[in-house]
Amino acid sequence: MQVTVVSIGHELLMGKTLNRHLVTIARALKGIGLSITEGLILQDDPVAIKKELSHIDSDVLIFTGGLGPTPDDLTKETVCDFFDIPLVLHEPSLEQIKAQFKRYNKPMSKTNLKQAYFPESATVIENPQGTAPGAIFHVPNGPWVVLLPGPPVELNPMLPVVRRFFKDEFKLEIYEDGYLVAGIGESEMEERLEGLYKAHPDVYIAPYAGNGEIQYFFTSHSKAALDAAMDAFKARALPYIMGPYQTTLEALLIKRLTEIEATIAVAESMTAGMVTARLTDIPGASNVLRESLIVYSDEAKMKYLNIPESLLVEKSAVSLDVAIAMVEGLHTLTGADLCGSITGYAGPGADVDHPVGTVYMAVKYKGEVTTRSVTLQGNRSFIRERTTAFLLHMLLERVMDRGH
Ligand code: ATP
Ligand code: MG
Repeated sequence: MQVTVVSIGHELLMGKTLNRHLVTIARALKGIGLSITEGLILQDDPVAIKKELSHIDSDVLIFTGGLGPTPDDLTKETVCDFFDIPLVLHEPSLEQIKAQFKRYNKPMSKTNLKQAYFPESATVIENPQGTAPGAIFHVPNGPWVVLLPGPPVELNPMLPVVRRFFKDEFKLEIYEDGYLVAGIGESEMEERLEGLYKAHPDVYIAPYAGNGEIQYFFTSHSKAALDAAMDAFKARALPYIMGPYQTTLEALLIKRLTEIEATIAVAESMTAGMVTARLTDIPGASNVLRESLIVYSDEAKMKYLNIPESLLVEKSAVSLDVAIAMVEGLHTLTGADLCGSITGYAGPGADVDHPVGTVYMAVKYKGEVTTRSVTLQGNRSFIRERTTAFLLHMLLERVMDRGH
């Protein structure tokens, strides 16, 4: 099967925008066993687009970008003209575009009308984020054509629809599963997995590394092969498997705390609420989280958590002793069953004794305090995000049940 992705937009050629769509589409299709065989970037120019179309010989042609309302957005018109497919008004899309304008209390502009026109046979993909619906249609005696809008927030939610469409259309038997892994770096994890990929040639195993967590995604045409690879992976990575793939540390933590009817509180200095924000992203967080503290300054640490000034002077605010005192103070103050604390330097300022990226974390649960000290490298936001994931991991590690 030949699959070509054509990304349209001069900003991609000028080095202004990175062609992220090629990556996201490749990943989405890999999940159903389809590989991209060709990727092109073209100008928003009908002549250039038609010239390429005249020698592309693919089964599936996926276009991204140029579905907007302005005259330079001409992907759909150019492609349909090339294949000689008329565009007709798609009423439901027109209604949706009108509704979008209504929501923002604006009159619908005439230029948007063209966004509601599609080939008669097209499967139109709704766009809740914008006015450009996507579409999938078959050119008689020709390829399948997929049209997707340029902005990633609009394109990404359409990919599951595209995936499902081709899975059904091509009758692809595909099984998928995976794990969320944390508490280990990507390269160390890959060392642990040495030989695993080769031993399971019928399974596609892909790690998607986040900041402080890794999703391992498994797909295969054979259920037995998939299960065997999942088991082999588990045998090698059990201490780092936090849950199934496509979940998050915070979702697992909220779920587990709800199950065991335990409460949580966090005292955050360097991350200033980022851990708590991730927890409250999860519906149901209010069952287990009543309060958290941002104690950014020394004064706040003394005022709310009862940290002795002498400790701050002697050890400095960024120290393991202070992280422990913070979690103890938080436990006394809130009485939460599971307490966590973070203190560290996110930079860019640094000093010799406490380089940027020095982070101390503590967790108290059932009377026992565990700690972690790390030195992270990267910019301010990277360090803060990674620390957030690390504390979530530590918190989950204390309460999770690995079934043994
Ligand atoms: P719009 O209605 O916003 O005009 P569109 O479907 O016409 O949408 P484009 O005009 O081609 O899309 O692109 C809009 C924006 O989407 C670009 O400015 C860019 O920020 C982003 N974008 C487009 N193509 C890509 C791509 N391949 N990778 C990442 N971002 C992209
Ligand atoms: Mg545009």
